[in-house]
Amino acid sequence: MILNNANQEQFAHWLTECVKEMAQTLREKFKKTNIQTKLQSLHVNPQNELFNTLIGCGKQCPFCKAPCEAGAKAHTEHFASLHRPDGLGRRIWIETQKRCIDICSSSVVSDISFRCSDTNDQSHPYKRYKEKYPDWKTPPDASLQASDYWKYVLTKFNDEFAAAYDAKPADIPEAWELITPEQAEASLKESFHIK
Ligand SMILES: [Zn+2]
Ligand SMILES: [Zn+2]
Repeated sequence: MILNNANQEQFAHWLTECVKEMAQTLREKFKKTNIQTKLQSLHVNPQNELFNTLIGCGKQCPFCKAPCEAGAKAHTEHFASLHRPDGLGRRIWIETQKRCIDICSSSVVSDISFRCSDTNDQSHPYKRYKEKYPDWKTPPDASLQASDYWKYVLTKFNDEFAAAYDAKPADIPEAWELITPEQAEASLKESFHIK
């Protein structure tokens, strides 16, 4: 009601002045505020939120142990976009006891079988993995290869992994030996869309 009779120009002038002052005061206040104190007084804890988003449901691919990325906790099928060479998930060739370097998306279109405690040590075709792991979704794709990162890791620590898993080192393709740490890092960035 007061504003009905107010001089609009004058009102606008003083309002602008007020806001300018307010902006300045807030700027000063934020400069003095310690970021740690600020984080502590938030309603949500950013690091917990980030952690929960990243860790997902916590399940790992039954073959290569890549973490599920299906997002949030409630989903009916677990999914990983980046499978690792299976030897990293303790898979070994039964005949040779050597660790396996195939990745899951290729294995599930192959004619090879796996066996482990989940199959009662009976041979089970990879193609029918769903019978054993109905809640995992691994789209078959024979063209997919392990990322340069995992190839590098498996090549560099082949003997260490073998010792830790009590198996023989994997047969590493020659091309894998040529991957440089820089290429491994670049592949990691590419996989996680970090430019
Ligand atoms: Zn996998
Ligand atoms: Zn999951």
